[in-house]
Amino acid sequence: MKAHLVGGGLASMAAAAYLIREAGVPGSDIFIYERGDGPGGSLRIFGDPTFGYVYPGGRVFEREYRCAFDLFSFIPARTDPEHSIKDEILDFNAHFGWDNRARLIDGDGKILPQGPMGVRFSDRLNLLRVLLTPERKLQGKRIQDCVSPAFFISEFWYIWSSIMAFRPRHGAIEMRRYMLRFMHLLPELWSMTFILRTKVNQHQAIVEPLANWLADRGVSFLVNSFVSDILLDDAPSSIAATALRIDQEGHEREVPVGDGDLVFATHGSPVFGMTMGSMDAPPPAHGGDPWALWRRLAKKRTQFGNPSAIADHIEDSLWVSFTVTDRGSPFARLIEAFTGREAGRGGLVTFRDSNWFITITRFHHPNVVDQPADVFLWWGYGIYPERPGNFIKKPMVECSGAEILQEVLYHLKFQMDADDIVKSSVCIPCLMPYAASLFLWRMLTDRPKVVPEGSTNLAFIGQYCEQPGDVPFTMEYSVRSARTAVHTLTNKGRPPPPIYRGYLDPRVLFHTAWAFQK
Ligand SMILES: Cc1cc2nc3c(=O)[nH]c(=O)nc-3n(C[C@H](O)[C@H](O)[C@H](O)COP(=O)(O)OP(=O)(O)OC[C@H]3O[C@@H](n4cnc5c(N)ncnc54)[C@H](O)[C@@H]3O)c2cc1C
Repeated sequence: MKAHLVGGGLASMAAAAYLIREAGVPGSDIFIYERGDGPGGSLRIFGDPTFGYVYPGGRVFEREYRCAFDLFSFIPARTDPEHSIKDEILDFNAHFGWDNRARLIDGDGKILPQGPMGVRFSDRLNLLRVLLTPERKLQGKRIQDCVSPAFFISEFWYIWSSIMAFRPRHGAIEMRRYMLRFMHLLPELWSMTFILRTKVNQHQAIVEPLANWLADRGVSFLVNSFVSDILLDDAPSSIAATALRIDQEGHEREVPVGDGDLVFATHGSPVFGMTMGSMDAPPPAHGGDPWALWRRLAKKRTQFGNPSAIADHIEDSLWVSFTVTDRGSPFARLIEAFTGREAGRGGLVTFRDSNWFITITRFHHPNVVDQPADVFLWWGYGIYPERPGNFIKKPMVECSGAEILQEVLYHLKFQMDADDIVKSSVCIPCLMPYAASLFLWRMLTDRPKVVPEGSTNLAFIGQYCEQPGDVPFTMEYSVRSARTAVHTLTNKGRPPPPIYRGYLDPRVLFHTAWAFQK
């Protein structure tokens, strides 16, 4: 039996690991096809200390990532192969956790006092109504359809939406799922002490050790290989993949899918169409349609979902992040004094009144293996990049790295030192047209099931398959899909652990209700 895996992100790598570990498939029978030039997908980072580093995304997670931690428990850590990735994460956070003291900053550059959620009684009832409403009745609804406009100026919304990247126009289904899934974290929302991070960036902490583990077992990783189509047999009542059409550096070829072979397809990515700018130039617009494979598949079977619901609303899914490589500017000293926290412990800092709704975070040092001692890294993002800035009167999407940096320094009231900071920093913006596409309002059938009804050998994995009760835009979602797919198609090994449901614990309900009294 051979396994063909489309996409080289966490989902495919997890599927390969579980095929080997749970289903006993030899690594040499596993083939991963990736359109880019390396593994990692959304978890990749780019650059170097001279050019400037680029982190398109940055990941936080928590203890109840049950599938991800299961995977991380058997992959040796990069820094210490005697220990697993899981051990490394738990050990690092036990000694160096977040404890946010400057979570929200107002328009005058003042830190808001910690504690209040600021949600009116009527909106607390509205939220409760959403939580008690079955998802099928929330289909097509947006968050703004379910609460009053006052909800969107509550401290709760500012903190919540800046961590998760929700907008009022996003879907009520995902808002409901996130609130249920992360309810046990809500009482600590201000300090964010529940957050876990990796010891270095996630590409080097997770992707590289996992890719090495797979390579040691003979898994083939084929880069620059775009899977443009998955051919199916003609029987309309069943789904069986018969071949993959692959465009490898301009050469098209067909890879047959034999009897007993399996196909696992990552059919979308939040970093599809991503482009990078520079200190002097904004990121260019992306070209082409990265969703070609899913669109082609969706025409073949109704069970394959509706890519248009996800791919055709860039105005509501667009995100701009930026990575600042700081070569010894006064920024480090100023931000530590301002937030009262050393680098890496201050969590997220959100400028409540910024038009772009900017959040920044400063990484502990080193966050990249071999990062020079005098080079520091911080990162940020804007959730409304289409709006003109408060200081730079242009949409964030049209701004160079230098302009974004100046806007952030304006909100921090660091203008006295702005010239020095800009001179010794490299800020690289990154445009991700589909980053928030997972939060769009939708119907429950818009995403295909992990193993669609009637499928004998084809599964959908990653962020754009449907897993009832779990929350997309998380590493957990990708690993869960991989494990479900392997277990269902091979009928071997253990199924994934159940999704954590803290909301069934009366203590969680009590503490959450208490937090919302404020
Ligand atoms: C800005 C941002 C912030 C995030 N924050 C968090 C966070 O705080 N916490 C958290 O848990 N998660 C977070 N995530 C989500 C997490 O990074 C992703 O969910 C996870 O890495 C997705 O893994 P994946 O393998 O499913 O997809 P991806 O990592 O997107 O990989 C998919 C890969 O498949 C390839 N591919 C797709 N189609 C084809 C094809 N037809 N042929 C060949 N190759 C193909 C793509 O090139 C890509 O490399 C964030 C993501 C982003 C972008």
